[in-house]
Amino acid sequence: MRALLLYRLELSPDTDPGDAMMAVDPATPIIRATDLGVTRGDGVFETAVVRHGVPQALEAHLHRLERSAALLALPAPPLDRWRAAVRRAAAEVSHPGVLRDGEIASIKFAMTRGDELDPAAPTGWVLGFAGADPAAVRAAGVTAVVLDRGYRHDVMQTAPWLLQGAKSLAYAVNQAALREAARRGADDVVFVSADGFVLEGPRSTLIARIDGTLVTPPPEFGVLPGTTQGDVFAGLAGDRSAIVPVTREDLRRADALWLCSSTRGAVPVRALDGAPLTIDHELTARMNAVLDARED
Ligand code: PLP
Repeated sequence: MRALLLYRLELSPDTDPGDAMMAVDPATPIIRATDLGVTRGDGVFETAVVRHGVPQALEAHLHRLERSAALLALPAPPLDRWRAAVRRAAAEVSHPGVLRDGEIASIKFAMTRGDELDPAAPTGWVLGFAGADPAAVRAAGVTAVVLDRGYRHDVMQTAPWLLQGAKSLAYAVNQAALREAARRGADDVVFVSADGFVLEGPRSTLIARIDGTLVTPPPEFGVLPGTTQGDVFAGLAGDRSAIVPVTREDLRRADALWLCSSTRGAVPVRALDGAPLTIDHELTARMNAVLDARED
């Protein structure tokens, strides 16, 4: 990852929206040691990939930012301000010469509860960064292991304070799960609930093909509504798809799996818990063609 640009975004209602964006050098520290985002992971974020000069699925990302903020009881994000800032950042990282060969640009935008000593307004920023072009991983696929997330599938309803289903800044658990996967010799993770339902990856949405239908678990099970998965299902109108509960037993019957995320698109899984899976290159290419052709 290579930082390309950084904006501090003023979120106080007292700030004129026209003055809300402040460009800073990406190497400049803009978060104080007393910011609740740093000290408690108390905040929310989104990452949108940039194609054709625009952030992809921006409205879906903004909608999810709003949903995550509501789950954390944060002030409602001023969406017009975020929309303008992310679009401007996407346009700037798309200028000729900004990206090097083999890179794609993405925009990460985050909002914290603000400074513990001065909690007047949330802290906001927009970071443009370059990451590796996902073409290679889309072709080669990844290996994954199934890990228990430790909560039941209905945790959002029974214990909403656990914040499952929110894209909060507290990703240390997700990072730990990825380290456990690496310890087991795998690249990625498929989380399952304590009562045996398939959930998502630590940084992706799972799509499984079971009995000819593309399926993904419902957001009510404490998973993020995936913007990438949403666009794949909408774009593959000719293929049967459904948002339905998927059990561990169902997963064993799947003849193809994908992990979907904004920065990588649809990445096929070539082995799960050491058992090989066939990569459907044709369908993978169609999924990613849908994603890469999006105009917004
Ligand atoms: N689930 C989790 C936990 C994630 O962190 C992500 C993306 O980072 C996703 C799903 C996929 O979401 P999207 O396709 O909107 O990037």
